[in-house]
Amino acid sequence: MLTIPKPQTINWQPIIKEFEAILGKNNVVRTREDLVAYECDGLTSYKQQPALVVLPRSTQEVSQVLKVCDRYSIPFVARGAGTGLSGGALPIANCVLIVTALMKQILEVDLENQRVIVQPGVINNWVTQAVSGAGFYYAPDPSSQIICSIGGNIAENSGGVHCLKYGVTTNHVLGLKVVLPNGEIIDVGGKIPEMPGYDLTGLFVGSEGTLGITTEITLKILKTPEAVHVLLADFESVDAAASTVSDIISAGIIPAGMEMMDNMSINAVEDTIASGCYPRDAVVILLIELDGLEVDVEECSRQVEAIARNNGARDITTAIAPEHRLKLWKGRKAAFAAMGKLSPDYYVQDGVIPRTKLPLVLAEIEELGNKYGYKVANVFHAGDGNLHPLILYDNSQKGALEQVELLGGEILKLCVRVGGSISGEHGIGADKKCYMPEMFTDADLETMQWVREVFDQKNLANPGKVLPSPRTCGEGAKPSHHQLLEIPRF
Ligand SMILES: Cc1cc2nc3c(=O)[nH]c(=O)nc-3n(C[C@H](O)[C@H](O)[C@H](O)COP(=O)(O)OP(=O)(O)OC[C@H]3O[C@@H](n4cnc5c(N)ncnc54)[C@H](O)[C@@H]3O)c2cc1C
Repeated sequence: MLTIPKPQTINWQPIIKEFEAILGKNNVVRTREDLVAYECDGLTSYKQQPALVVLPRSTQEVSQVLKVCDRYSIPFVARGAGTGLSGGALPIANCVLIVTALMKQILEVDLENQRVIVQPGVINNWVTQAVSGAGFYYAPDPSSQIICSIGGNIAENSGGVHCLKYGVTTNHVLGLKVVLPNGEIIDVGGKIPEMPGYDLTGLFVGSEGTLGITTEITLKILKTPEAVHVLLADFESVDAAASTVSDIISAGIIPAGMEMMDNMSINAVEDTIASGCYPRDAVVILLIELDGLEVDVEECSRQVEAIARNNGARDITTAIAPEHRLKLWKGRKAAFAAMGKLSPDYYVQDGVIPRTKLPLVLAEIEELGNKYGYKVANVFHAGDGNLHPLILYDNSQKGALEQVELLGGEILKLCVRVGGSISGEHGIGADKKCYMPEMFTDADLETMQWVREVFDQKNLANPGKVLPSPRTCGEGAKPSHHQLLEIPRF
């Protein structure tokens, strides 16, 4: 097993001098007070200060930084906007955190070939903003799209509402410039869709910062559809809504997005943003977006409405005007944040199940919640069976977090049992690595480890994430919440 150097064996003074020479003094963060902002990502239950934070501006600077890390055998962790929900950008003790916040240039817009090249710190939403005037958009739209970075999206292979029809991030990435852990710069993929040789772009997308740091990304953009309709249908049972989802797909209609929210989420959203759009007494609602040519969308809209009514939908609202559509989506996009109305803390899980198992799995999640004594709200991408159970708890209660994590783990195991997966879009990170053996054999995991070592012989790139070590869910496979290691100051 490769080892990570212990904190006390590193003399940071010459390293800091080298980083300051590469990046300038202002772009090397080293005081304890300044480092607080970087000690966790969106999974706030794990915290660890890095030894240093560095803020490069270019591929060359990232390369020089990684060469220093390589020479001194210092582990590093990449961080985009820090919105990840699986602890992927959680620093490890004694690491250098490489933050891409200054790498925020849109380098090239090639409308004719529908390509955009960006630096990794560019915020997801900026890509669409840059091309929407010319009638284009970037399809992957995580709910965090106004704050999360493209570099983070690449590393997590992020999804979003529109990924049902258009696919997740990997389907929209043509090429990457990557700095390998030894500082070498490589290009994978390119501007054309089919490149000969191994699909290294596919390998890097979703690798959670364990193979190197992405510094330039070539993205595919799509033509803005001629027409868009959003339908909101409300139901008195999960079964009715789930059957609607299956029947729509069986009818050959692939909506751009198909989202489900349960009663708890509906009320939390209405309490928070008071949109007045979501019926508070519905058991569940479905939000269905259809896009394409106007004639198609109108026809599909009629068919979807008929399918929903056939399954017992109480009421259906159709939004065509952009401001009306936005209003219907606003509550869904604000759903995670709205959980603050219900509970001081929440823990969100991200599992995938076959669509047909929705009623069974949602009923079992409720039972599991009752067994552990916690309420679980559900708001998720129903079309692709990507669940987001939100477990509501109070972190000030001793032992609550541990219980909630156990409950989250049982939900993930349930997803695997019914033929699904332990992650749809949030990645594995620090949080879920101990559940990898639920899905993969030892041989599978060893193969992944080999691939990792090909790129990172010294185990410096985001060590301890994604792959469990030991290969079980026992002690040591998961970082402890109280494992905040003191880093010697310099
Ligand atoms: C309210 C809320 C809603 C969300 N909704 C969604 C959703 O709908 N769909 C979804 O998929 N996710 C969602 N997320 C999760 C999160 O926003 C995504 O995972 C996002 O892609 C993370 O981007 P980031 O810039 O914040 O990355 P970070 O959290 O900074 O990093 C994430 C991972 O990427 C690695 N990384 C970052 N930059 C690079 C780089 N340049 N090179 C190599 N590795 C890098 C990090 O090491 C880490 O492993 C949501 C989060 C929140 C808080």
